[in-house]
Amino acid sequence: MSRAPINAVGANDGNGSRMDFRSLWAYTVWTVALAWSTRASLTVAIGLLALVRGVVPAGLALFARGLVNATVALTAGETTSLRPIVMWLALGCMVSLIDAMAPAATQLCHRRLVDELNLRITSDVLVHAATLDLEFFESPKHQDILERARQDTAARATHFLHNAIEIGTNGLQLASLVGILAVIEPLVPLLVAPFALPYVVFKWRLAAQRYREVHERTAKLRWTAYFVNLLTDRDAVAESKMLDLAPQLVLRFRELMESFRDRDRLLHRREFFGSWLFGAAMTLVFFGLFFRVVQRVVAGVLTLGDVAVFGAVSSRLRQSVDLAILSISSARENALHIANLIEFLALEPKVVDAPEPRPLDHVGSIEFEDVWFTYPGAEQATLRGVTMQIARGEIAGLVGENGSGKTTLVKLLCRLYDPDRGAIRFDGVDIRELAVDQLRSQVAFIFQHYGRYEASAADNIAYGDWRKLLTDRSRVEEAARQAGIARIIEEMPDGYDTFIGRRFGGYDLSGGRWQYLALGRAFARDASLLVLDEPTASLDAAAEFELFSRFRDLARGHTTLLISHRFSTIGMADRILVMGEGRIVESGTHEELLASDGGYAALYRLHRRQMGDPLD
Ligand code: ADP
Repeated sequence: MSRAPINAVGANDGNGSRMDFRSLWAYTVWTVALAWSTRASLTVAIGLLALVRGVVPAGLALFARGLVNATVALTAGETTSLRPIVMWLALGCMVSLIDAMAPAATQLCHRRLVDELNLRITSDVLVHAATLDLEFFESPKHQDILERARQDTAARATHFLHNAIEIGTNGLQLASLVGILAVIEPLVPLLVAPFALPYVVFKWRLAAQRYREVHERTAKLRWTAYFVNLLTDRDAVAESKMLDLAPQLVLRFRELMESFRDRDRLLHRREFFGSWLFGAAMTLVFFGLFFRVVQRVVAGVLTLGDVAVFGAVSSRLRQSVDLAILSISSARENALHIANLIEFLALEPKVVDAPEPRPLDHVGSIEFEDVWFTYPGAEQATLRGVTMQIARGEIAGLVGENGSGKTTLVKLLCRLYDPDRGAIRFDGVDIRELAVDQLRSQVAFIFQHYGRYEASAADNIAYGDWRKLLTDRSRVEEAARQAGIARIIEEMPDGYDTFIGRRFGGYDLSGGRWQYLALGRAFARDASLLVLDEPTASLDAAAEFELFSRFRDLARGHTTLLISHRFSTIGMADRILVMGEGRIVESGTHEELLASDGGYAALYRLHRRQMGDPLD
């Protein structure tokens, strides 16, 4: 998406005060460039039509004047030929035809361009969002930016383009109409400006006020969406019914919506009075001038044609002034919304490739050296000097209390975040020197919150390596066999083509089977590092046992990091690392850790006692 002119405008300050005519111009250039690069032919057509529509009213006024004067000349006996009347009528007919056709043609081109721009902007927003860091999606501030960029920005951009064109069209109309009126009554340009300018300022301010209102509403709008979700989402409804939360949620929803309504009412009322005042003032001025024109016709200075032209043109001029001002204020409001899009597109990911990334075709050993990490906005560091090594092909188990930082460590290992301090190395190479995509493609994983894709059973597995597997059913079936879910899939109504998930009315699975599909996805990845974060959380003991043997197959030859709070799961590790308060506090085999009688041994004894199997 073209960005250059906008960068000069600067970021969005949220209250619209930075938006002036100069920046409006920069936004116009940006939007026209965007439209041009999206569909040049439509942009040209709209521009030409704007030009034509700009001069048509003046053409019509001249036609009226010519026709009236020719008719007066004929009736006064100054000429006997009908030719001038026929000529004026033919000319008028032609201009009227253009006048009738141009708006419809403009609308057609505009609608087509709106569709094209909608497609382009919405997909550009998603493509850009996909480049941003995980951190972006976790911060409320960034959620607001994303929300604002998504809030019909595409429609706003196309409206802005329309406004820019309307400003051009109405500007042309204004200039030509004022020119004609000035010939008849020289006071016109002197009187129009003093009335129009305050109105421009009024509308300009109102546009910024309206925008501020929308800007400030972003977080509140997300709240309303949250309440709607709690009241309507199938996963949330059961609990909110049991707690009878509906009256409370509806009340809070209504309070927000009522505050929006009251603010809107205020703005609408302000706009109504302003427009009314301007309309009344302009009407009085023009009728005063009309009187002067009639006086001058009676005095023989002007012709009857001039009266006809003044009447027709002055009412059209009022319309044009109103439309031009409306377009300017609307352009300002829309430009402020475009600024949101620019702000979003200007966000850059922090986790990026090294300028010349080192190639990676296999992950052997892993090393963390004094790794520190604090979540954005958090007061305390989550990782506080993690130091550990995992040897090539080793299965390392990671245990620790909830909140000790295990999942965070995994996120750093996959470069979903980068450390604030210290280094993570694969085979001695700092992972920041690798290409992010290549690194991630080397990781087969099951995360705690694994994906449940509303897609076919085959696609749920193929997403593990979709570029290759969406068209390779035999490899999908092989991964399903390795994960131990092949028979279950074959028994589904349409086998591998069975659409899974309830959101769109597909075939639903138990949590455990979803987890097996996630394992299938892990098998589908041609990766050398295996990361399993609570992989058996949704399984009962029997299913967990069955899954273990699959893990062993999957882990064979892979360097593996296995997180679990279940000692049965962690038992398959070659070595266990114990996390506490953001660092590795113990490490060794199960037996070594029990012998050293530290935190791990205490946890293990507690677990055995809970299982009714006191060891000591
Ligand atoms: P574990 O996996 O050991 O349970 P986590 O790595 O999930 O621990 O979390 C460690 C700490 O980091 C917790 O205190 C948690 O609240 C905090 N934390 C986790 N994710 C985020 C986040 N996205 N933003 C801020 N704090 C977070």
